[in-house]
Amino acid sequence: VAARLSSSGFIRSQGLIGGKWTDAYDGKTIEVRNPATGEVITNVSCMGGRETNDAIASAYDAFVSWSKLTASERSKCLRKWYDLIMAHKEELGQLMTLEQGKPLKEAIGEVSYGASFIEFFAEEAKRVYGDIIPATLPDRRLFVLKQNKTDVGKFLQPVGVVAAITPWNFPLAMITRKVAPALASGCTVVIKPSELTPLTALAAAELSIQAGIPPGAVNVVMGNASDIGEAIVASPQVRKITFTGSTAVGKKLMAGAAGTVKKVSLELGGNAPCIIFDDADLDVALKGALATKFRNSGQTCVCANRVLVQEDFIQHEVLVLIFQSPVVGIYAKFAAAFSNAVESMKVGDGFGEGVVQGPLINDAAIQKVESFVQDAISKGAKVLIGGKRHSLGKTFYEPTVIADVESEMLLSREEVFGPVAPLLKFKTEEEAIRMANDTNAGLAAYIFTTNIQRSWRVSEALEYGIVGINEGLISTEVAPFGGVKQSGLGREGSKYGMDEYLEMKYICLGNM
Ligand code: ADP
Repeated sequence: VAARLSSSGFIRSQGLIGGKWTDAYDGKTIEVRNPATGEVITNVSCMGGRETNDAIASAYDAFVSWSKLTASERSKCLRKWYDLIMAHKEELGQLMTLEQGKPLKEAIGEVSYGASFIEFFAEEAKRVYGDIIPATLPDRRLFVLKQNKTDVGKFLQPVGVVAAITPWNFPLAMITRKVAPALASGCTVVIKPSELTPLTALAAAELSIQAGIPPGAVNVVMGNASDIGEAIVASPQVRKITFTGSTAVGKKLMAGAAGTVKKVSLELGGNAPCIIFDDADLDVALKGALATKFRNSGQTCVCANRVLVQEDFIQHEVLVLIFQSPVVGIYAKFAAAFSNAVESMKVGDGFGEGVVQGPLINDAAIQKVESFVQDAISKGAKVLIGGKRHSLGKTFYEPTVIADVESEMLLSREEVFGPVAPLLKFKTEEEAIRMANDTNAGLAAYIFTTNIQRSWRVSEALEYGIVGINEGLISTEVAPFGGVKQSGLGREGSKYGMDEYLEMKYICLGNM
């Protein structure tokens, strides 16, 4: 696969600065490996502060002309970029499986999902409306502008040069979700993809050139993350940082951005609860919990991190006699059915037939999963299925279900980012809400119930940016994605995602 992608030009190794494919200035490179095999796919330029400063300067120059185009002109370029990505979704999907490990079908799905942001914001570019505010004095008129067009001045309504720093778990979608609204608004961008998955980003950037997005509007640098980050933070020309990744790095960037008062959007870690009430439709809950937990082998920030299931209880003796069954509730039934389904998941190289669980991204990831599982076992949790490295070796881990997990275990406190589903018991709705909210994170939460009042009541009580009711897959380009508390700032996707890249100007017309 690698040889075929390489000969058709899909594997690139240089960064993109001002429309030119560029080596690191000191010639350094870093390896990009296939997580399923450990083999080196290629070496890419290992860039740092100097290349980043040049990329920022290119983006700054390109901003002057790009921001002056009409929304409809920018929209046409974006639409063409979307068409090119969709035309090459097989190749881009293969490239993604190669460098990231996710099963090919899932990778091709991400290409379509990633492209959907470009299509959406190409359309949205034309719908940035202003506002007229009723004045408090009769001789005044008050206006709010988000877009204006003039030949003087550089910084109009788009915020300016945007730096987009992205992780490895969605090598395309995390980029397009930021870059599409930025470009649609008239901003230009410097992308820093994860060093673990730069190839999909570079291939997408090449397609942006083919789509006619002008040189300098899209730049890509990768290599030494902290040097690149420092250059971005220090530059007064960068007006916004949009970041998806760990909470620790997000906090560092936010603190750094204070120096030049940049806007920041942050998508950080989650600790998603998946609450299964005893009135849930068992099949719906099973399907939803499996989808949210095991997508991308558990390596997404909206993956269920804690599965809270309503406890069984013994019925009154008389009722037991009538119904011939002492136990009601859903815990035992759910745990058994869930474990069965998890046991049948095929693990392997993402290119393998029928594989639904790929490798974890690297050794650090599998060591983290192992240590979390050990911690839970040592504190009394019970492994129902899995619980160890897969016989395939490397970074493959068995899809796992662990029962009797308690709130103080690492599995409940932190994001495991792997294929491990911890089951926690709760008795009442109030207890479920309390447990769900007992975390610094607040990205996604899921509830499964057939009681409509409860579904609404619990959704409102959850301190989360996103709630899925009877649904495990909630991400779409048309809805706002983002968290509360320490899960982040700002929203991506949807009409709200556009505002993150626009300034507002209030104009007061007096003495009418
Ligand atoms: P993850 O655990 O998902 O890898 P990271 O926060 O480490 O999360 O990585 C997300 C992105 O942030 C990657 O592109 C990574 O290279 C980048 N990154 C890591 N450290 C820094 C830093 N000090 N400054 C800027 N970017 C960084």
